[in-house]
Amino acid sequence: MLDIQDLSVRYGHFTALQQVNLTVQAGEIVVLLGANGAGKSTLFRTLSGLQRPSSGRATWNGTPLTGGRPEFNVARGVAQCPEGRLLFPELSVEKNLRLGAYVHRHDAAGTARELERVYELFPAMVEKRHAPAGSLSGGQQQMVAIGRSLMARPQLLLLDEPSLGLAPLVVEQVFEAVQRVNAAGVSVLLAEQNAFAALGIAHRGYVLEGGRVTLQGSQRDLMTDDRVRSAYLGV
Ligand code: ATP
Repeated sequence: MLDIQDLSVRYGHFTALQQVNLTVQAGEIVVLLGANGAGKSTLFRTLSGLQRPSSGRATWNGTPLTGGRPEFNVARGVAQCPEGRLLFPELSVEKNLRLGAYVHRHDAAGTARELERVYELFPAMVEKRHAPAGSLSGGQQQMVAIGRSLMARPQLLLLDEPSLGLAPLVVEQVFEAVQRVNAAGVSVLLAEQNAFAALGIAHRGYVLEGGRVTLQGSQRDLMTDDRVRSAYLGV
């Protein structure tokens, strides 16, 4: 499981995360709701080893995620799919996918198997495999970005704002894909501003405001919470 305890992150004098406590159990989809600037990306960067915390700890199945090198975290089973997808637009879909297998670069057979698994999860990618990633629609590019993360064979996927800039129907398709990924055995921590879609697939969730967890609960608790409904569901 992912276990985050009293995690704080500072940028100079600015505190971006303050004493965050959060868990993701094996098999869960946990949503992290929060407005722009709440600290979601900072949390992901910290869990990926890209940002050092000022205090607190985060472990995955007992192994510390902070203080090491980012590629070690990937090798330990924690992969991040960054906000904005960050694909290489001029490279083919398949080359983008293969880049996700960097930590397994000495295992060509394993990478080939993983590629087939990704194509099984995202069948629409098969006919696009040789197309430049930049020529795909936004939703398809998001699927490629998720697929690239899966090539690292994660047990935990940190998924940052996958619905960003996508039309509602496409958001639905992306979130269905996230459910398929989860059903294939990958735990998911999902940072989202689109609370309605995210709560639709999450088991539990947390609300992050100004770098602090201000609310947590089951999908049903959050869906029916007046503060969530007015601030994030627009009800
Ligand atoms: P968004 O969805 O816009 O990415 P977020 O919830 O992911 O928002 P963060 O990007 O984690 O939020 O930013 C949290 C706060 O930390 C913001 O106030 C931001 O301005 C600040 N911040 C982020 N990165 C840095 C940095 N490198 N130096 C200084 N402040 C930063």
